[in-house]
Amino acid sequence: MNKAATEFIVLGCRAGSPGEGAAASGYLIRSNGKTILLDCGPGIVLELTQRGLADPLDAVIITHAHADHCADLVALAYHRLFPVARAPLPLWSTSSVGHMLKALDEVFGIPTLPALANPLSHAFDFRPITPGGTFCAADLTVEAMATAHPTPTFAVRFPELGLVYTADGALTDALVTFAQSAALLVAECTYLTADSYDLNGHGHMSAAQVGQLASRAGARRLLLTHFATCAEAQRSAQIVAEHFAGEVETAQPGMCMNL
Ligand SMILES: [Zn+2]
Ligand SMILES: [Zn+2]
Repeated sequence: MNKAATEFIVLGCRAGSPGEGAAASGYLIRSNGKTILLDCGPGIVLELTQRGLADPLDAVIITHAHADHCADLVALAYHRLFPVARAPLPLWSTSSVGHMLKALDEVFGIPTLPALANPLSHAFDFRPITPGGTFCAADLTVEAMATAHPTPTFAVRFPELGLVYTADGALTDALVTFAQSAALLVAECTYLTADSYDLNGHGHMSAAQVGQLASRAGARRLLLTHFATCAEAQRSAQIVAEHFAGEVETAQPGMCMNL
């Protein structure tokens, strides 16, 4: 594999909704001439098209069925099908996302345009993820681990790249093990500080917990993302650095990291 050609690109980094000039969750992994879209929250299709990155895509991975990680799949489906229909794009996700794609077809299908009669199932070739399993996307091995979050959610690890993305979820021992020795750990850092319910009941991490995760996992580099507000990103990085001695960066749209 040509490691020099491997990049991790931030398209969006906000939790919940687009704002402050940033889309919600979405990232690109470019390796060996192929491109994977990892999550597709609101604002991601505009980021892709404005940056000239919408084509070609070779695979999509959606970590869970929360809107800030998948709401732009409708826009991406339309982009893939109109005005020129492209081949179905493999899409790996949970079975709950599979059900969501069918429901979206019911709502947004346009019966008078055959290509758009069932836009989600025409645009995407859905492939369910098995909990704890491994799959191959765009020639890369991908390991999936269920996280502690209120809907089925998967962290992903790309062993050939040393890349781990936590998706959404609370800090657990299993997540520390999954992220072990990551060359680049991309971690949700939703809150500066939060109470027990937000962290463990709802399932997110505070800045201090992200620092603890990276330290316990022995990560080499840490990229913070999924901010409740981007204005708190730098303060979050300061708190993280109190717990983790490695390199810490904060995600922002357009950022490109070599792997
Ligand atoms: Zn989220
Ligand atoms: Zn979520």
